[in-house]
Amino acid sequence: MSIADNLARVRAAISAAARDSGRDPDTVRLVAVSKTWPAADVAEAAAAGQTVFGENRVQELLGKIPESPEGLEWHLIGHLQGNKVRKVLPVCALLHSLDSLELARQIDRIAGELGMRARLLVQVNVAGDDAKYGFSPAALEECFDEIAAMPRLEPCGLMTVPPYEDDPEAVRPHFAALRRLRDRLQQAHGLPLPELSMGMSHDYPVAVAEGATLVRVGTSVFGRRDYPA
Ligand SMILES: *Cc1c(COP(=O)(O)O)cnc(C)c1O
Repeated sequence: MSIADNLARVRAAISAAARDSGRDPDTVRLVAVSKTWPAADVAEAAAAGQTVFGENRVQELLGKIPESPEGLEWHLIGHLQGNKVRKVLPVCALLHSLDSLELARQIDRIAGELGMRARLLVQVNVAGDDAKYGFSPAALEECFDEIAAMPRLEPCGLMTVPPYEDDPEAVRPHFAALRRLRDRLQQAHGLPLPELSMGMSHDYPVAVAEGATLVRVGTSVFGRRDYPA
């Protein structure tokens, strides 16, 4: 299977899942997660019409962008350390992984110094998984006012990485919980939070059914990674 074939298959599955749940397929964007794969594979995906790419490591993101075709949209989907904010902000169209108040303050300050605004999603640990980054739902409801008030931040929605389950249906409650949290935050703060980043290779159809607007798919597009990253 070529990358183009894989992309066609994933796009068809996204459209089918959207239609089955009464959603417009155009409201779901595919983020092709290119981590561990070379820029040549990014170019192959781009040639097949893919425009949005995700990386989970800053070094890899910064190295791959100049080697890849121009005009692509790059998202950082992994944990961001404070000392890398300055390098990432100018090249990252959307940060999926705002996972602490301290990081929010750093991004706000540095975006100000760079004369820009930072578009981002707040990462939520909906399952209360100790191994995962992100705010607990309760902590986020507590501090969302503060995040929303930071002048250089543009919070666009929420993101989650639920625990792996063999049966993707077992993850559905976590996706639904993220959507309901988003609804509560929108209501409480009168701020639009249109984006829900949820769903990976083995569970993205379920995520789309629960309202995902961004699905982050690596393996089903590029193939199985040799090493987990
Ligand atoms: C690697 C990664 C993905 C993609 O995972 P696949 O199972 O390969 O689709 C999605 N989101 C995050 C945060 C990742 O690190």
